[in-house]
Amino acid sequence: MSNNDNFIDIGVAQVDITPDYPIRLNGYGSRRTESEGIIQRIWAKALAIGSDDQNPVIMITVENCGLPDEFTEEVSERLKQKTGIPRENFVACYTHTHSAPCLTNSAAFIFGSDIKPGEQATIDKYTEQLKDWIESIAISALENRKPCQIAWNIGELGFAKNRRTEGGPVDHSLPVMRMIDSDGNLSAIWASYACHCTTLAGSDNHICGDWAGFAQEEIQLAHPGTTALITIGCGADANPESRMRAMPQGVQEVFDTRLAYAKEHGKALAHEVSHQLERDAISLSDIPNSAIQRVNLPFDKLPTVEGWKELAAHGGAIGYHAEKHLEMLKNGRSIKTDISYPIQSWTFGDDLAIVFLASEVVVDYSLRLKKEFDNTRLWVGAYSNAFPGYIPSERILAEGGYEGGGAMIYFGQPTKFAPGVEQLVIDTVHELLPSGFLA
Ligand SMILES: [Zn+2]
Repeated sequence: MSNNDNFIDIGVAQVDITPDYPIRLNGYGSRRTESEGIIQRIWAKALAIGSDDQNPVIMITVENCGLPDEFTEEVSERLKQKTGIPRENFVACYTHTHSAPCLTNSAAFIFGSDIKPGEQATIDKYTEQLKDWIESIAISALENRKPCQIAWNIGELGFAKNRRTEGGPVDHSLPVMRMIDSDGNLSAIWASYACHCTTLAGSDNHICGDWAGFAQEEIQLAHPGTTALITIGCGADANPESRMRAMPQGVQEVFDTRLAYAKEHGKALAHEVSHQLERDAISLSDIPNSAIQRVNLPFDKLPTVEGWKELAAHGGAIGYHAEKHLEMLKNGRSIKTDISYPIQSWTFGDDLAIVFLASEVVVDYSLRLKKEFDNTRLWVGAYSNAFPGYIPSERILAEGGYEGGGAMIYFGQPTKFAPGVEQLVIDTVHELLPSGFLA
């Protein structure tokens, strides 16, 4: 534990990203129509750390199901042109709420059918608007910088439950970072939790931040003047425990019950944040050193043309996915054999290492990283930068099921990953983090 009077330049900014028109929502393939209204407004937030001569970093948090790789790259490039902030110093995270607009090419095959041209045009329009919004709050966060003290500690929160295996592994840690200005005011709070943002189910079609949105709202209510940012850890195989509870009869009753649970989970998170704020925290005296590295994750053996034809005969989402691949082959396009997977890290001197894994990462990764690195100085995040699909551990890849490979079709990936995916990701984290963080 260190204690110091170091002040670091911190800026926050936020923008309401709620569309004022109906739009298809992402996350549940069963939804077939545009949104029916707004339960809760959704936000994008930016956090800038460091002064201009310190090589500042920017984190964005977006209430959306998933930001495609090309989306993050484009926003980062635009920001680089305007502010000089390089790609490695920009990280974009999303809450994975299943009650926010579809973005262009984000889980593009989720509906197992083409999206109507008019609906697609609305999605494309929103996607462009969101890029502009994110760019503007990143710049505002830089403009809003003022000296703050940063500290962090780790709380615990119990509502995430393994959704594959009863009693299966979960990561209940709740890392919390506080940023306090020179007047003693809480400027920003950032907390991360490893759970799907899916309290509301596919039977609902309203815009909402789900538990992460309610958590942000509750934190800001409890600490007026602060900006709360929520990001998501390795919760790809975790759901809120309320999703496993029995539901009442009736559409309205189910809706009311789920919404009450989403608020309850958000309140529980905010409560634990308040509890952590009362406890001692570890001061951070350096601005983070940010790095990004890509690793190619190869797919398993691709189907033959005959194989694709057999899959096409299945109909439904599997058939649609196979038809699309047959179409690509017919047009002389090759089917990709791997994905480029970005992994980012922030290291605050020797005090804290934060890992930003991309997309939907299962809990085995954070549990393993916390064994291989000093878990008192490690924060493992996921749902960052890109949204290529589920990233299964070797165990889950072998087990199969939705997170093991079944979900790949909804992301438009040709097939499941080849064995070895876990080690490739873990090795890259080892390359990124200084050895001083090893366990
Ligand atoms: Zn998911």
